[in-house]
Amino acid sequence: MSQQPPPTGQARYAWREIERRDPPKRAAEDRVSDFHEIYSLFDEATIREQASRCVQCASPACVEGCPLNNRIPEWLALAAEGHFLEAAELSRATSNMPEICPRVCPQEKLCEGACVIHSPEEPICIGAIEKFINEYALARGAVPIHQVSPNGKTVAIVGAGPGGLACADELSKLGYTVTVFESQLLPGGLLMYGIPAFKLEKTVVQRRVNILKRQGVQFKAGLTVGRDVNLDTLLKEFDAVFLGIGALKPKLLDVPGAGLKGVYQGLPFLAQKNAPIGLDLPPVAVKGKRVIVLGGGDTAMDCLRTAIRCGAVETLCVYRRDLANMPGSRKEYYNALEEGARFMFLTNPLAIEGNTSGEVTAVRCARMELGEPDASGRRRPRVVPGSEVTLPADLILVAYGFDPVPFPPESDLSRIAVNEWGATKTDANSMTNVAGVFAGGDVVRGPSLVVHAVRDGRRAAAGIHRYLTEMQPARASAQP
Ligand SMILES: Cc1cc2nc3c(=O)[nH]c(=O)nc-3n(C[C@H](O)[C@H](O)[C@H](O)COP(=O)(O)OP(=O)(O)OC[C@H]3O[C@@H](n4cnc5c(N)ncnc54)[C@H](O)[C@@H]3O)c2cc1C
Repeated sequence: MSQQPPPTGQARYAWREIERRDPPKRAAEDRVSDFHEIYSLFDEATIREQASRCVQCASPACVEGCPLNNRIPEWLALAAEGHFLEAAELSRATSNMPEICPRVCPQEKLCEGACVIHSPEEPICIGAIEKFINEYALARGAVPIHQVSPNGKTVAIVGAGPGGLACADELSKLGYTVTVFESQLLPGGLLMYGIPAFKLEKTVVQRRVNILKRQGVQFKAGLTVGRDVNLDTLLKEFDAVFLGIGALKPKLLDVPGAGLKGVYQGLPFLAQKNAPIGLDLPPVAVKGKRVIVLGGGDTAMDCLRTAIRCGAVETLCVYRRDLANMPGSRKEYYNALEEGARFMFLTNPLAIEGNTSGEVTAVRCARMELGEPDASGRRRPRVVPGSEVTLPADLILVAYGFDPVPFPPESDLSRIAVNEWGATKTDANSMTNVAGVFAGGDVVRGPSLVVHAVRDGRRAAAGIHRYLTEMQPARASAQP
């Protein structure tokens, strides 16, 4: 327990006296020269003070706002009293990545967005406190490794992203022998190969994977299920299979000139600049170039900030809707602005222009206005007639989002039913149409958030446990 004095604010009304503070952030000029994380931890006294701002609502909206229903007010109360290890223990009870989610969650849309303390006051800084208590526990070796006696059953996890890792964690804590199959050489999925290190250091991902390894989870890296290993082989060797293979097929830029030299997809660019190992990808050099990023989601924000760190002379984001309708996290938008990225909203590319050598020279765009809401509720952008603008550029990064990769027709994975846009269909138990095969994360819901993949992995683990302990034995005993 901390030796710091107790918080100065009176419980329940402390938020009136104590202003919200955000964790220390490196100055933009400093942070653009490397890929290290930009936020550091509060000190203990500030954590206690900030946690004491929580009003301890009877029906906490922050818990509802968190996809994992984290027991936020309870661990805030413990943190306010300096019981950091106990707070971390409680936060681990509902989250398999309690030190990773606070680094990457868009809290303003989740727990902090739901906090009852808002306008003109600022919500509790839940994410920063969650990160602090878990780093505090990890630094003191106070995160126990669960080594449970094997229950005699085995599960194969396909894909080592946050969905697969959360499912593996839950099942191994129940005594299952778990093997994770991963195409890439390092586990972590988009935590390792997509989200840049300035948001999530790769050592943090590696540390979480090591905890799972010490818990007994086995990893088979560099193996692609459906190509190197069949689904049927897994079903023979394991009692159940979980598919957490993400949605990694990039949406394409569909305008004239999209094939010119200098037009690249955003994700391979991020992977080669951020992954801790060399990747077999064509190098994308942005140094000294004017870079235009097309799109307005997290991938676009990450491409802008990565291009700045790699020496681009100009970085411009071109997005067809306005800021209010941009899907990317607000926190990361402001971080990109501070680092020198520029934004052109309500603008959509019509064509990529090039020189006689076939290299990109510009993006011809139309200005847009927002019309009636579409099926998603967001206002549909439409072209403003006669509004064309030409934006000079040397390199284009396309960040238009992703779809699930179609199952190869020749592979037995193609037995798994998908919906009209290729996402795997599951039932209320997270099981696909193939008995014993479960799925979760982006492969089911489409591109989403780390915290949603973790929730899906946990739910699927509960579904697998139910299937192997209740449903399958019942089915076996019913057979003549
Ligand atoms: C650039 C970028 C930035 C993002 N930033 C954020 C952010 O800041 N905050 C946030 O919450 N979310 C963010 N996201 C979204 C988040 O990363 C994903 O929603 C999340 O990682 C999905 O987890 P998953 O486990 O379903 O899949 P993934 O993380 O995609 O992992 C799937 C894994 O399966 C492996 N795999 C695929 N097919 C096979 C196969 N046949 N055999 C074996 N292995 C296979 C892949 O190699 C991969 O490792 C971002 C996404 C991108 C692309």
